[in-house]
Amino acid sequence: MLHEKTLLMLPGPTPVPPQVAAAMTTPMINHRGSGFAELFQEVATGLQPLFGTHEPVYVIPGAGSGGWETALLNFVPAGSKILVVSSGDFGERWAKAAAALGYQVEKLDFTWGTAADPAVLAERLARDDKREIRAVTLTHNETSTGVTNPIQELAAAVHRHGALVLVDSVSGVGAMPMAMDAWGVDVVLTGAQKALMCPPGLTIVAASQRAWATSEEAGGGPRFFFDLRPYREMYTQGQTPYTPAVSLYQGLRAALEMIRAEGREQIFARHRLMRDICRAGVRAMGLELLVTDEAHASAAVTAIKAPPGVSPNDIRKVALKQFGVILAPGQGRLKSDGFRIGHLGYVTPNDVLVALIATEQALRVLGHPVTAGSAAAAAQETWLAWLQNQR
Ligand SMILES: *Cc1c(COP(=O)(O)O)cnc(C)c1O
Repeated sequence: MLHEKTLLMLPGPTPVPPQVAAAMTTPMINHRGSGFAELFQEVATGLQPLFGTHEPVYVIPGAGSGGWETALLNFVPAGSKILVVSSGDFGERWAKAAAALGYQVEKLDFTWGTAADPAVLAERLARDDKREIRAVTLTHNETSTGVTNPIQELAAAVHRHGALVLVDSVSGVGAMPMAMDAWGVDVVLTGAQKALMCPPGLTIVAASQRAWATSEEAGGGPRFFFDLRPYREMYTQGQTPYTPAVSLYQGLRAALEMIRAEGREQIFARHRLMRDICRAGVRAMGLELLVTDEAHASAAVTAIKAPPGVSPNDIRKVALKQFGVILAPGQGRLKSDGFRIGHLGYVTPNDVLVALIATEQALRVLGHPVTAGSAAAAAQETWLAWLQNQR
């Protein structure tokens, strides 16, 4: 086997295109020079349409998780009350982050594998007569379950109350529409290593005028490295307060150029097609999908239940060892229930076909009865029907 050639089907980190990898090997530049200022501007203006905002987009060295800290400490008064809308492991992590930073956290839980219900959120907020809840945190695409939440409707439910709307879109931005300004979202955060096709290492955040006004009036929490105020002051000069991750900026510029060339709508359509192909294939091989509600099934990642008596870890091990495909484990409390196929970023429908075939083959190696080619056949039908509808 050619062991180093594997197919990475994780929902992050995702495959890095050769153009992006090559861009990151260019010689180092002066981060206080005009070359960097130009790079800074190109990256910022390339990111804005993906966030759906005219506000500045800040790029900070860090993992996606740094975005939770940035969103909370910059815009939500220290120690105040936060409502965390959770229907998966990333919702739980929002809650953990907020609690660790000293906020009073109330969770609004929805069943894992379903979307958050705007009516239930509106009802909870309507009972907050004293307006104690200062912010509501949402997860755009719940990567652990493969659910895309209706951010526009959820944000609208919060607007009647007045709390800030903070959205984790780490696996959303770049794979599916995000309209921060139009939907009235106050903070959107993402990372580099999902749909943005870069290696891990960047926290990317944008904030509304309303978020800034709130924090100027009521303050935030204690912060230094993630304090956005110096970033904001230096933004128009194309500079950052501390040394930027220059190579990642260069990679991100190359990725944004690819995104511009393919076109946002085409990219979103490709992701929806990969979702549909994946779901058709999974069903055809007789496996159960975690998300049954088509309307909220994620275009970026699909969670699959392992058939009774078959260990999901064994499926993943065989898929990698024998067939060279890296599948993602179940996450959080879904760890022992199944596995996931990530299909976001530098991924094509062909890759999804291969991942389905590897899954099917692994099941057969493990003695689970599946007809060879069943997943691929269903996936091909879906793909062809999609092409015919395009005409
Ligand atoms: C990947 C991911 C994160 C955070 O990622 P790190 O870079 O590991 O901190 C946060 N939220 C969601 C929804 C994600 O998919």
